[in-house]
Amino acid sequence: MKKIVIAIDGYSSCGKSTMAKNLARQLGYVYVDTGAMYRAVTLYALRHQLFEADGEADAASLQRAMPDIRISFQFNAQTGKPDTYLNDELVEQEIRTMQVSEKVSKIAALPFVRTALVAQQQRMGVDKGIVMDGRDIGTVVFPHAELKIFVTASAEVRAQRRYDELQQKGMSARYDDILKNVQERDYIDSHREVSPLRKADDAIELDNSNLTIDEQQQWLLHQVDKVLQQG
Ligand code: C5P
Repeated sequence: MKKIVIAIDGYSSCGKSTMAKNLARQLGYVYVDTGAMYRAVTLYALRHQLFEADGEADAASLQRAMPDIRISFQFNAQTGKPDTYLNDELVEQEIRTMQVSEKVSKIAALPFVRTALVAQQQRMGVDKGIVMDGRDIGTVVFPHAELKIFVTASAEVRAQRRYDELQQKGMSARYDDILKNVQERDYIDSHREVSPLRKADDAIELDNSNLTIDEQQQWLLHQVDKVLQQG
């Protein structure tokens, strides 16, 4: 059967990764969480003290370090999701902490970081059969993706979901801090100069505030079927 590229973009914590992961499994496609890649670079920067006292990144030092930052994924059969590795170290848990969430949008706004990660993402998609989620997949990484979905949900619904997810993993966080973080990242992600978060003109919008995961999955499969039937 013909293989396609599926781009899933949208705001923080709107369930993109669960959606993309399930869809990839159902289709037998590869799933790539590009947010994890920006998070891994952020973790590297935190560990190497590459943030100034005012919270800004030390861009020159990070740019020099970029050749030493290798990000890879390995499929985890237990979670059904690829785990993220930073220079061969498993960092899947560490990249999800609030400390990383608070800094990631600054790192993701740096042009040289985006250039490096976008190039790696494009290489991952050359054989198609891929579901990739992020902020700029349908606009920059794969502007010719056969199917583009843009996901939205209210900031409160998204903060609650992130809170539940962290609780489930036994990681502590306060709902109010998460809501503030979600709103701040929305702002930075949609106002940055390079590849700001925006809906591609040919993307289909999905507001999943009031949808169950099952309903959402049905809707997505229907969109995939429509594309495949078009030939
Ligand atoms: O998807 P997730 O919330 O884990 O992404 C973390 C951050 O990485 C986002 O808030 C955004 O700043 C950045 N990001 C990006 N472009 C992508 C994916 C994520 O700028 N394609």
